[in-house]
Amino acid sequence: MKNELRSWEKEKKLIPIMIIMYCKGNHKIERKRQGVKGNDTCTECKELIEYALFRLEKCPFKKNKKICSFCNVHCYKPEMRNKVKAVMNYAGIRMLFSHPLFSLSHVIQMIKHKKSKGDKIK
Ligand SMILES: [Zn+2]
Repeated sequence: MKNELRSWEKEKKLIPIMIIMYCKGNHKIERKRQGVKGNDTCTECKELIEYALFRLEKCPFKKNKKICSFCNVHCYKPEMRNKVKAVMNYAGIRMLFSHPLFSLSHVIQMIKHKKSKGDKIK
């Protein structure tokens, strides 16, 4: 089904955008030290993007539009999950204003899901 794939493709684009946003807002010192400019990210965030995209690629629920990489908590190792969580908290709200074309319900669903699952999952 076309729709299923589209939401997955969308997320693939969404991840780097959110992480870049987060990096710009939170890693000013690192960015400066590494000479990072524009829509580039610091090495830590670059790693996170790569990891998230890799996980997304491997996600067994890829075809299920209701479950995405951010919901599939099992596939993130704790360190990366915490980073992604921080990105979500930071960029999630800002996304609503700066990228209205992206599926808002998706982002909201994701955050809600994160909250409902809490930190209990290892
Ligand atoms: Zn960064």
